[in-house]
Amino acid sequence: PSPIHAQLTLAYRIVPYGNGQRLLVARDVSEMRRLELVRRDFVANASHELRTPLTVLRGYLDMMGADAGSGPLASWRGPIEDMRAQAQRMESLINDMLKLARLEADSPMTRQDLVDVPGLLRRVVDDARALSKGEHRFETEIQPELFLLGREAELQSVFSNLVANAVHYTPSGGVIRVRWKADGEGAQFSVADTGIGIAEKDIARLTERFYRVDIGRSRASGGTGLGLSIVKHALERHDGRLRIDSELGVGSTFSCQFPLHRVQQGPVVQEKIAL
Ligand code: ADP
Repeated sequence: PSPIHAQLTLAYRIVPYGNGQRLLVARDVSEMRRLELVRRDFVANASHELRTPLTVLRGYLDMMGADAGSGPLASWRGPIEDMRAQAQRMESLINDMLKLARLEADSPMTRQDLVDVPGLLRRVVDDARALSKGEHRFETEIQPELFLLGREAELQSVFSNLVANAVHYTPSGGVIRVRWKADGEGAQFSVADTGIGIAEKDIARLTERFYRVDIGRSRASGGTGLGLSIVKHALERHDGRLRIDSELGVGSTFSCQFPLHRVQQGPVVQEKIAL
């Protein structure tokens, strides 16, 4: 009767009912859905509101950090650096929470672009090389002119989170392979590492918010614990599927499969022919 209940959400399930018959069970999940929307809005608003005070704090801490070389702040140098690192961590967390809330808002993609995936991947791998500081060997196999229809910022989140994770969870001397190629079903991106690997029991839970196998290691690498949730949601919006293969102590492969209707041949660069 109240306007909030005016929109009814039903969940359906089909169960066997003897004699080969089936029973359709419908459950009213309107209240659950309403609470889910309230939670999502709350997270989005809270993250947004936390940004402004944090920007002010960071500004002052940066100024204090620059002054801490000598003078009255000299003895505070260590604590100021710690505070700057913590503020930076909080900023990453807020940005990831906001990103996830926006992706979860589930609004259909209003605009789709032709995304130059090979160009995007080159930038993502360059960033990962900088992150790796020369500790890993990178191998890339990228099919040129294989583009995707979608949102560049969201696809960048997918690729950069997966490649950054490969760097964070692979000890020095390891190899990271990035591939982008067409296959019978559409196109596939994959990143394979020779890192620490993931136990079978953890694989199914990795895309849950804040799920980490080793919290200490994740924090030390600057991880927010939201990366793979962001990957999952952004992929779903592109009709993509995430697959995780891993073996403890051997390495992991994260693959994203995109369907044919998302794949497009990018513009071929025309070379000028002098006659
Ligand atoms: P985080 O910010 O902690 O990296 P993610 O959501 O990106 O959060 O990943 C969740 C957890 O999955 C990580 O904490 C880590 O335990 C595990 N993980 C992700 N990628 C890899 C990888 N390439 N190798 C091993 N473990 C990984």
